[in-house]
Amino acid sequence: MDHFLYRDGILMAEDVALADIAASVGTPVYVYSTATLRRHYTVFAEALAGMDHLICYAMKALSNQAVLKLLGDMGAGMDVVSGGEYARALAAGIPGERIVFSGVGKTRDEMARALQGGVRQFNVESEPELEALDRVARQMDTVAPITLRVNPDVDAGTHEKIATGRRQDKFGIPIARAPQVYAKAARMPGLRVVGIDVHIGSQLTDLAPFEAAYAKVAELTRLLRSQGHAIDRLDLGGGLGIPYVQDNAAPPLPSDYGAMIRRTLGDLGCQIEIEPGRLIAGNAGVLVASVIYLKQGEDRDFLILDAAMNDLIRPSMYGAHHDIVPLVQPAPGVDRAAVDIVGPVCESGDTFARARPMPPLGEGDLVAFRSAGAYGAVMASEYNSRPLIPEVLVDRDQFAVIRARPTIDEMIERDTIPAWL
Ligand SMILES: *Cc1c(COP(=O)(O)O)cnc(C)c1O
Repeated sequence: MDHFLYRDGILMAEDVALADIAASVGTPVYVYSTATLRRHYTVFAEALAGMDHLICYAMKALSNQAVLKLLGDMGAGMDVVSGGEYARALAAGIPGERIVFSGVGKTRDEMARALQGGVRQFNVESEPELEALDRVARQMDTVAPITLRVNPDVDAGTHEKIATGRRQDKFGIPIARAPQVYAKAARMPGLRVVGIDVHIGSQLTDLAPFEAAYAKVAELTRLLRSQGHAIDRLDLGGGLGIPYVQDNAAPPLPSDYGAMIRRTLGDLGCQIEIEPGRLIAGNAGVLVASVIYLKQGEDRDFLILDAAMNDLIRPSMYGAHHDIVPLVQPAPGVDRAAVDIVGPVCESGDTFARARPMPPLGEGDLVAFRSAGAYGAVMASEYNSRPLIPEVLVDRDQFAVIRARPTIDEMIERDTIPAWL
C-alpha cells in the first residue's frame, strides 16, 4: 500500500498534488512519501514483534540522507555495502552499533574506517576477506565482530541478475564448507564470531526459497553451537518482493514472512536481523516525467518523455515493469492506444515500456512511474550528460527538495583540463 492516490482526478503524494511539485521543481523528479516509508518500516517491526530483532534497512535501495534519518529515528539500523554507504549512515546519525557491513569486496581501508567509527558486525563473504579483516583488526588493537555469509545453494526464483544464493553466484561461503571456516575464524585473535548471515536475492515473490534457506541456517546454527561457537545472531538478509503491477497477485506480506521466521528459527533464541531494502523504499517513491513529444511510428506511436534510462535503469537493465500513469486521471471508459514509452537517450534500450495501453497524452502532459523508490535514484547516472535528477520528500501537505538538481555548469565544472593540454 502507498500514498500516491488520485483525489478528485488528480494524482497526489499524500496531500500534495504531484503536478504542484513538478511545477515547482521541474521534471523529471523523484518524489518519496514519508507516510509510506514509515508504514513499511512499521509493518516489518510488527511482523517481528516479540522477537529480539533489528531491522537493518538495505540503504543501497535508496540512500538519501533524509530517508536514512527518517528510518534511523524510528530505530532502524542500516545494511551498508561500501565505505561510501557507511559514511552516509554515520552522517545521517545512525550509530555504529546499528550498522551491518555487507559486501563481497570490502577493502582494508573500508574495514579500518568501520572499526574506527563503530560497527555492529561485518558479514564476511570469503576466506581471504576473513584473513584481511583479522589482520586489520589486530593492527588496530581491536576485535571485529563477524558473521559468515553462507551460500545455501537455494534458487530464489527471481531475475538472473538479482539471484545471490545459488552455488554459481559470487556471494558467500558454500554452506557445506562453513564449519571449517568458522573453526578457522575462531582461531583468529582479531575476530569474534557472533552469528550467521544469509541473503539469497531480491524481489522474491514466494516464501518457499526463504524458508528453505532459513531451515539450512537453523541446522547450521545447531551444528556450530555443538562445535563451541557462540551463534547469537542470525542476519537473514533482505529480498522480499513488492507488487510492480497493480492488482496483480501480491507477493507475501511481511507478516507472513515474520511468521515463517518465527516458525523456522524462533526456538533458537537468537537475535534476528533482517535487511529489507526494496520493500521499504520501492512503493514509497514515484518518478514524475513530462511528455516531450508524441511521435508517430511505422507500427506504433512513441511517447517520448524527459526521463530516460539514466534516471531509472530498471526497465532496460532487468526488463522490469513499472506502471506509468497520467497525473490527471483519465475519464472512465476513455480509449487507450498501445504506445512505446521511451526516453531521449541515444540507445534503443532507452525504452520504459512497449505497446503499453495508454490514454491520449501529448506534449507537456505529466506521468508518474509507480514503484520507483527503490533502485531508482541510486542507480542513476549522467549518461548523455543529463544531470542527476532531484529528489523530493513529502510529508502530509508539505514537501522539501532533499537533493537539488545540479546545473549543467556544475556538472561540467567537475572535469579538469590539465595545464599541459
Ligand atoms: C541488496 C541486498 C539487500 C536488500 O535487498 P532487497 O531486495 O532490496 O530487500 C539486503 N542484503 C544484502 C546483503 C543485499 O545485497
